Amino acid sequence: MGALVDPYQRSITYMRVSVTDRCNLRCVYCMPEEGLNWTPTDEILSYDELLRIIRVAAKRGLQKVRITGGEPLVRKGVIGFIDQMNQIPGIEELALTTNAVFLKQMAGDLYKAGLRRINISLDSLNPKTFAEVVRRDIFDMVWEGIEEAERVGFKPLKINVVLQQGVNDHEVADFVNLTRRKPYHVRFIEYMPCANWDTWVKTYKPFQAVVDEVEDKFGELIPLNGANEGNSGPAENFRLPGAPGVVGFIHAVSHDFCDTCNRVRLTADGQIRPCLFSEIAVDFRDALRNDCSDEEIAGLLDQVLFVKPEYHELDMIAEQKKLTNMVSIGG
Ligand code: SAM
Ligand code: SF4
Repeated sequence: MGALVDPYQRSITYMRVSVTDRCNLRCVYCMPEEGLNWTPTDEILSYDELLRIIRVAAKRGLQKVRITGGEPLVRKGVIGFIDQMNQIPGIEELALTTNAVFLKQMAGDLYKAGLRRINISLDSLNPKTFAEVVRRDIFDMVWEGIEEAERVGFKPLKINVVLQQGVNDHEVADFVNLTRRKPYHVRFIEYMPCANWDTWVKTYKPFQAVVDEVEDKFGELIPLNGANEGNSGPAENFRLPGAPGVVGFIHAVSHDFCDTCNRVRLTADGQIRPCLFSEIAVDFRDALRNDCSDEEIAGLLDQVLFVKPEYHELDMIAEQKKLTNMVSIGG
């Protein structure tokens, strides 16, 4: 079984694994207020099925796994799953993206299971604005979860802020100031278009303007070694002089980083999507449920490599109104 290298010589070393498509929040940029038709439980891959795919991929060079969703902490047994994943030879980096609603209760056990990297979505420091974005009045619980994660030792804690014009873009300076008080790594993420196209058109804010705004207000930012963080993707990272935290900008839309893309996404119902902005997917569930061998799983991984597009097809799928809700793919 050879390394996971696609026809454009990109090595695939990073998989984002969605353990559920369900979520306890309803972020405006991610899914509709009324929720979605969740995938029936028997159509979701079991943890054993997920682990099987990851074990085969790890033998072929997969190094990093990020657990995501939906909200991964709503699925029962996720801590045991992390514990098992942590023992897979070859997986050097294990990370989790969460909305932090359950983090206060779970941070200690997640740490004990061997998890060290957590990204937390927090789009506002103002409880009222936060409630408007996530459509739940839950800021305090989320903030307590963040502080608990810091207390039990997660370092650095990354805070993901999806910026929307006219919604939370007036809080950029507040988030930058947070890095002076806390050792957090605040990462502003450009709003990516998904099924809610009309909202995207109204509130998308390209980032060059935001970077300029931060430089005007705070003076020159100190760039951190290499604008890119390798496996962590297309982030440009900076520090304010003397600040314990870091400010990052992820130009998810205005810059394309397809030529260095190293990732694929495994959805909760067992498909691997080789590109966020493409409809292509390879199904693994049928094979897994029909007693397939590891060689067959490896063969399906070859198909993923083969169909991974050279460049994303955002313009085309947007034009054809075929964008998917982010919650179904895992962000
Ligand atoms: N529920 C978890 C959370 O919110 O952290 C994990 C799943 S969520 C789909 C993963 C990431 O995708 C979050 O950081 C979220 O902010 C981001 N995301 C969702 N929709 C997005 C969009 N339209 N544009 C940019 N980021 C988005
Ligand atoms: Fe849920 Fe995360 Fe999507 Fe918000 S971004 S609705 S928390 S899956």
